[in-house]
Amino acid sequence: MSTFARVPLAFERGEGVWLVATNGDRYLDFTSGVAVNALGHAHPHLIAALTAQAQKLWHVSNLFEIPEAERVARRLCDASFADVAFFCNSGAEAAECAIKTARKYQAASGHPERYRIITFEGAFHGRTLATLAAGGQKKYLDGFGPVVEGFDQVPFADLEAVKRTIGEATAAIMIEPLMGEGGVRVVAPSFLKALRQLCDEHGLLLVFDEVQSGMGRTGELFAHQRAGVVPDVMALAKALGGGFPVGACLATREAAKGMTAGTHGSTFGGNPLAMSAADATLDVMLAPGFLDHVKHIGLLFKQRLAEIKDRYPSVIAEVRGEGLLIGLKALVPAGALVDALRAEHMLTVAAGDNVVRLLPPLIISEPELAEGVARLDRACARLSEAATSAAPAGGGGKGGGG
Ligand SMILES: *Cc1c(COP(=O)(O)O)cnc(C)c1O
Repeated sequence: MSTFARVPLAFERGEGVWLVATNGDRYLDFTSGVAVNALGHAHPHLIAALTAQAQKLWHVSNLFEIPEAERVARRLCDASFADVAFFCNSGAEAAECAIKTARKYQAASGHPERYRIITFEGAFHGRTLATLAAGGQKKYLDGFGPVVEGFDQVPFADLEAVKRTIGEATAAIMIEPLMGEGGVRVVAPSFLKALRQLCDEHGLLLVFDEVQSGMGRTGELFAHQRAGVVPDVMALAKALGGGFPVGACLATREAAKGMTAGTHGSTFGGNPLAMSAADATLDVMLAPGFLDHVKHIGLLFKQRLAEIKDRYPSVIAEVRGEGLLIGLKALVPAGALVDALRAEHMLTVAAGDNVVRLLPPLIISEPELAEGVARLDRACARLSEAATSAAPAGGGGKGGGG
């Protein structure tokens, strides 16, 4: 189906932070398959783990015990607030499971009338009918019939609106602790704390969608750890398998008390092949020094980007984000900056709010980062020239034909 507006560019192989196109051109990958390839391309430990597992067992179904899944669940729980995990294959499924877990918790607690979930404008939780309703974005919902009931959207970071919206039927509050698709918008730790408090006061569950922000991207294993606030339920996917499709919904035992045998399921979820990828990804991410590297590179990156912003004030308005989940709020159309970067053989991805996302693999080295900054500098220089030479012709008009 023509659901994607694809760039006419295809790749043959990858090597760390580099992608090699079918015509042999090398591209610096600051997209990582949209925050998926956290360990870069062709990471030797991932290749070894997947190859070894591929020779043993791929899939058995959840009719049987899956020791590989139990191991990954244990490791994720040991590294987080959670006690239990459900495995699936994508971010939307992880978010969908989080939604079902929250509703079922209330039903199992004697409150079946509590099913509504408060979400935030600009959020993205996936493309299934329920996660689309949670995200509430008109452009994605249009033409797909009645919107799944039970989501109340409030303006981003508006605590008073959250308080006003909590009612007899509210089950949970769901938020990305660092909003990705919506434009790399950082949620203040104080806001997350306030949500935690509201949830505790009203008997609601706090659900974090860390599909994009989780798995080391911010320099913490999970973005919410920076804020010192724990959720009851959390959705993960994107980088969890280092490039292999796998998602997870983590929860405390209490929050998951309604999710008993038969209440939810997945044919492929937690298959040994996917679990070997997640296990190997965790080997690398939990090794001493890995997250320190992400923090260090992230800080360095932000300093360099602040300089670029100062040098090209007609191109970049703001640098946002945490660790290596960085957004450049552009003053030219974000698509134009993405195109200019691609002309420099550097790959990035646009987000909402006219933002360009910079999502390099977390294993990026300082020289590779410097190479990316140099390419960004050249792209901005070209756009800046175009912007300033176009300005006089516009006769001081406001915004022209943009
Ligand atoms: C990407 C994303 C999803 C959806 O993930 P899919 O694997 O595309 O279904 C959900 N939530 C957030 C925060 C995401 O960034």
